Amino acid sequence: MHKVYSSQDVTLVHFARSVLEVNKIDSVILREQLSGAVGGLAPLDTWPELWVHDAAELEQARQLIASAMKKSDTLQTPWICTGCGEKIEPQFTQCWQCETEWESRD
Ligand SMILES: [Zn+2]
Repeated sequence: MHKVYSSQDVTLVHFARSVLEVNKIDSVILREQLSGAVGGLAPLDTWPELWVHDAAELEQARQLIASAMKKSDTLQTPWICTGCGEKIEPQFTQCWQCETEWESRD
């Protein structure tokens, strides 16, 4: 068993697990009950954890989760154009004012 992901927010751990499920990677969530018992914000040592069985899948699993987290962030957060400083709505990948591409977007 190998730990792939851990978060204070159990819904993020479930989200990470669903990402792995879609990609046919088996995983389990540990310490979910512990953090649930505390309620709200859990202390660091009771954060729920996501584990995979197979070491061969560990690296792929980490990348899948990282890219899914990034995507869900970028879909909701406006970005600031590096060319002119304009605030751009998240659905655009290019500045409407100076046409600078947003480099951090995939
Ligand atoms: Zn701009």
